[in-house]
Amino acid sequence: MTASTAIRVRGLRRAYAGVPAVDGLDLDVEQGEVFALLGPNGAGKTTTVEILEGFRRRDAGEVSVLGVDPARPGAGWRARIGIVLQSSGGHDELTVQELVHHFAGYYPDARDPDEVIAAVGLDEKRATRARHLSGGQRRRLDVALGILGNPALLFLDEPTTGFDPEARREFWALIRSLAGGGTTIILTTHYLDEAEHLAGRVGVITGGRIVALGSPATLGGRDHDRAIVGWTEDGRQHTERTAEPTAFVTALAHRLGGEVPGLTVSRPTLEDVYLRLIDEPSQAVEVMP
Ligand code: ATP
Repeated sequence: MTASTAIRVRGLRRAYAGVPAVDGLDLDVEQGEVFALLGPNGAGKTTTVEILEGFRRRDAGEVSVLGVDPARPGAGWRARIGIVLQSSGGHDELTVQELVHHFAGYYPDARDPDEVIAAVGLDEKRATRARHLSGGQRRRLDVALGILGNPALLFLDEPTTGFDPEARREFWALIRSLAGGGTTIILTTHYLDEAEHLAGRVGVITGGRIVALGSPATLGGRDHDRAIVGWTEDGRQHTERTAEPTAFVTALAHRLGGEVPGLTVSRPTLEDVYLRLIDEPSQAVEVMP
């Protein structure tokens, strides 16, 4: 493990009533990375993340988070970690201002509460009670509470579920600015576009193991997949799969005498690759960073 390693996991196992939920999982995350964990329902994401957070015990394996075994957290370790859980609530009668100021008192190195409220875009809702916030605003409040302690590592569990498209974009900008400031972020999400926008690397879990690992652009050999060229000719739509789209389009343009009508060139989306990987995990291609 190097000084820049935020998370190191080797051979992690956890079973419930004898049924494995996490089944020999290995993972390395460097400091400053935004890492997305993808996987179908029941794949073992929450179990893994909660073991990393120190909230669930493991049956076997080595785990180090910011240099500490979460099963035996030392003083101060928890204050270096921010957690935004899937569902939140509580303290509904307090205002945004009251809540953020109150929780700031728990941290030795808290950020300025007013700056945090502004950073999550809740300036206009300072005086609003938590129970009167919309779903997206409540999520922003959750993030405010998660980053208040100035964490070196932030866990975000399905952070934008229920957001409208504009709120998601704004939330992504917030997460990118946190990442730009050096915070390591572990994101679990079912939104492939979210992973693509935010994550430097993604890991796909099925059956309690990582079956593919890489950048969104290279996952599962995506960058080597053949391109699909589409065009219109003689009033009909044509498509061709090719490993050499540039040469193909050049030849097409030559044959059609210049501009190619209705030209499109596309690659498999991250979602196409993800669905293939979870259908056939044995076909996974591991792409190391
Ligand atoms: P989702 O995307 O639905 O949140 P997940 O990838 O987070 O799924 P986990 O919650 O880790 O998956 O669950 C992995 C497996 O372990 C599932 O089969 C689940 O039913 C089982 N499991 C999780 N928690 C418990 C528990 N406390 N007791 C028994 N079984 C559990």
